[in-house]
Amino acid sequence: MDYLITIGLEVHAQIRTKSKMFCGCSAEVASAAPNTHVCPTCMGLPGALPFINRRAVEMAALTGLALNCRIQHNNVISRKNYFYPDLPSSYQRSQYDDPLCVAGWVEIEGDDGPKRVGLTRVHIEEDTGKLNHQPDGSSLVDFNRAGVPLMEIVSEPDLSSPEEAKRYFQKLQQILMWIGVNSGNMEEGALRCDANISVRPRGQEEYGAKVEIKNMNSFRSVERALAYEIDRQIKALDAGEKIRQSTRGWDEDAGKTVEQRLKEGSEDYRYFPEPDLPPLQLTDEWIETRRAELPELPDSRKARFMAAYGLNANDADVLTGDRANAEYFEQAVAEAKARGVGAKDVANWITGELFRLTKETGESLAAAGERFKPDTLAALAREAIANNPKSVADYKSGKTVAIKYLVGQVMKASKGQANPQAAQAALEEELNRL
Ligand SMILES: [Zn+2]
Repeated sequence: MDYLITIGLEVHAQIRTKSKMFCGCSAEVASAAPNTHVCPTCMGLPGALPFINRRAVEMAALTGLALNCRIQHNNVISRKNYFYPDLPSSYQRSQYDDPLCVAGWVEIEGDDGPKRVGLTRVHIEEDTGKLNHQPDGSSLVDFNRAGVPLMEIVSEPDLSSPEEAKRYFQKLQQILMWIGVNSGNMEEGALRCDANISVRPRGQEEYGAKVEIKNMNSFRSVERALAYEIDRQIKALDAGEKIRQSTRGWDEDAGKTVEQRLKEGSEDYRYFPEPDLPPLQLTDEWIETRRAELPELPDSRKARFMAAYGLNANDADVLTGDRANAEYFEQAVAEAKARGVGAKDVANWITGELFRLTKETGESLAAAGERFKPDTLAALAREAIANNPKSVADYKSGKTVAIKYLVGQVMKASKGQANPQAAQAALEEELNRL
């Protein structure tokens, strides 16, 4: 039988603030000793009062705008009640009825061409602590993460395959890092993802039972877990079994999903407005200030690179993969223009030679570029000059065409990686010194 796959993702992204969401503790917890970034508020002690992190709200709103959402004027922080040992207060501060951002979209490369993935909401909340299970069966708890600011970005069920889900998650990471609100670091848990998936026979109107998969912290695990789950559900349906609405965990080592519990409904959490925090009222002026902070985003920059510099889609894609690279490219284009070198040559040089250098050394594009420009080309130019006295003499006697031979030597020495115009400029500079 032929089946329709429906996938929606809930992405949790740590908001890149210095302090936690509702207290003054440091939010930089990745390398901290256990239980050192805690206070009565994030430990949930009776009588300790929370206050809201202004910067976290600003960054979450900036995210909403970057994801084409509407920012809501009236915001309520709610308590989500549940009992778990990593949650000292037995409730998590989150948003329920009135989230910060609603009704956005993200454009991705879908399986059948460009696709808009709808976003239901982006809301702010606090992270929980972390349990460390010990070999003897006991568990230790570290509360450093408790109260760290998070955004939950909830998509519509618009994704149709594990590949699309992965590409959507990758696009989110690119945008969040681009606007500076998240580190993108999945190993440290700063960006993680749950997926909702349902499978139904083609032609059936209503969705199949919704299964949630938890604990995916790499692009690869999202793709693998969804592929496994689709296969599992289709096999069960083919065998005439019913799929149960449930929550499953992804076991990376075993390569399979494992049922954890039958899914709670939201009524199980007994949400109610946090009595210790007033509703958050955001004015139009405040929202427009955030909008003005928004940089040019990756998609529009990619389009501009293609239109303004004549780059092909692939190069434009690579050069807008991260914001620092995009800025470096534009800076290099401006410098090269003064020497008569075109943008396409700069793009070739960066995507070829410079990317190879950064892979070798792990340094940034800008640092590698700086090192390459004085060092490598000048050194190759000097070497070509020293090895070819006849061409140098010809050039000096007015036969300027002799420089072409020297350019050829530099190109050869660089194994074809140097840019010819840049090589010529470096040679001219060295020759004029003689
Ligand atoms: Zn605290």
